[in-house]
Amino acid sequence: MNAVLWDVDGTLLLNSAVAGRLYDRAITEVTGARPSGRRPNEHGKTDAQILTERLADLGLDAGLLPTVRERLDALSADAYTGEAARRTAPGVERAVTAVAAAGWRNGLLTGNSPARIRAKFASAGLDSGLFDEPLWFTGEATPVRADLARRARAAVPHGELVIVGDTPSDGEAAAAAGIPFLGVTTGAFDAAVLREAGAVLVLPDLVAGLDDLLTALARLDR
Ligand SMILES: [Mg+2]
Repeated sequence: MNAVLWDVDGTLLLNSAVAGRLYDRAITEVTGARPSGRRPNEHGKTDAQILTERLADLGLDAGLLPTVRERLDALSADAYTGEAARRTAPGVERAVTAVAAAGWRNGLLTGNSPARIRAKFASAGLDSGLFDEPLWFTGEATPVRADLARRARAAVPHGELVIVGDTPSDGEAAAAAGIPFLGVTTGAFDAAVLREAGAVLVLPDLVAGLDDLLTALARLDR
């Protein structure tokens, strides 16, 4: 079995302008403490990483993570409505369908929890059933993205895997598990940064880059 493991934010879905606020709300509702506001450069971090860092900033116990995480899932269920609804990146459905037609499974490797993936996909009109659930490697419990890639590698010991993502963290996670990394520039980083993070190929998006993606998969499929 071969599989493409897709990142979610900035890769399958365009980034949200108000991305950081739900984490703060979840922390405030659980602890009463008020995080101090915006933080730059959280792209590519897992939910557990972002929450752990914010709890530490406030001098709060890291043991609060499971409770805050549950609150974040609950808040996410109805957070992406109206103007906050997420949108798919260009060419996503077609690319995912083409990957499946080429004989590869579609999975996810993302910092989001399963509940948050479903909420975001639903708001964007993206069918979560396009992605095989046994191949969802999700970051609600680990602050280390590379753990997800290592878990994926262990789950698919004999097949080829490819990680597609929009941040250097995707590349670092892929490298830690010996998985090839394909970058897309639909998120917060440009091609040079993604190449430096180890991308074997960088696609401008999944419309212009679809042929190159399929060619790369065919080359890896030995
Ligand atoms: Mg991303």
